[in-house]
Amino acid sequence: GRPMDNPLIVHISHLEQWAPLVSEIPPRAMELAKHFWPGPLTIILPKSTLIPDEVSAGQATVAVRFPSHPVARAVIDAAGVPLAAPSANLSGSPSPTEAQHVLADLDGRIDAVLDGGACDVGVESTVITLAQEVPRLLRPGGITPEQLSQVLGHVEVDPAVLNPLAAGEKVLSPGMKYKHYSPRANVVLVKGNLSAYIDYVNSHANEGVFALCYNGEKRSLQVPAVAYGEQEDACSQARHLFDALRKLDELGAEVVYAHSPQPSGVGLAVYNRLIRAAGFEVVELG
Ligand code: AMP
Ligand code: MG
Repeated sequence: GRPMDNPLIVHISHLEQWAPLVSEIPPRAMELAKHFWPGPLTIILPKSTLIPDEVSAGQATVAVRFPSHPVARAVIDAAGVPLAAPSANLSGSPSPTEAQHVLADLDGRIDAVLDGGACDVGVESTVITLAQEVPRLLRPGGITPEQLSQVLGHVEVDPAVLNPLAAGEKVLSPGMKYKHYSPRANVVLVKGNLSAYIDYVNSHANEGVFALCYNGEKRSLQVPAVAYGEQEDACSQARHLFDALRKLDELGAEVVYAHSPQPSGVGLAVYNRLIRAAGFEVVELG
């Protein structure tokens, strides 16, 4: 169900597979690769003629990633070519982080799942484009803007990372325009300290209302709750977020009040996914 204008990431298992896919590898791209590959970073450069339009969705650029997981790399090695592939979910539902999630979406439509265990990072790769003068972060992930700046100097953060797109606005990263990461429930992002959050949720307790909170907060809440990691540990939030969103759907949540993460470091990626899951509906508590 993936829209045709949403480009795929091309995955490699050896650094030498990169050069034929792009028009050239500038020094700053090689620096990034040295620091962060193999790992959760996708680098966009102008494409070579090897990349068909089906992969780049008609764009003049190609996104390449070198994953760290040994099973992913074994699959690419077995293919004998770089692998253009999406995440193993139905378009629109949260990305899978466990084999069970893949089956929940795709059982009956696919022959097999290779189970490499639960994902380490949890949210999708960081996407950066080097196809323009100033490097630009298109999608935050496990590699943070701060880490990228240490290697590249100034990095722009695309406005679509934190803000909704205006109607008809053109996007550099087509994935950002879809209502990605959307559970069936109506998610509302609630910003405020713990006591304000608890008061807000408890005063809205009702049939079908659930909370998406941090570990340890459940006992103060008067609605059923799913926790998505430690308040002070953005990596644990990233790891558990998509599983938590799927659980809320399984539990039949209709409205979900999500305790908002801090949008810095890996937390920027968590915030970016949650605010999309919430369709940019935010409650700010004083
Ligand atoms: P995924 O949905 O996790 O498979 O990641 C693919 C996403 O990477 C797309 O939705 C785009 O947002 C981004 N992407 C891939 N290729 C390109 C490209 N050539 N230019 C800009 N963004 C891209
Ligand atoms: Mg995807």
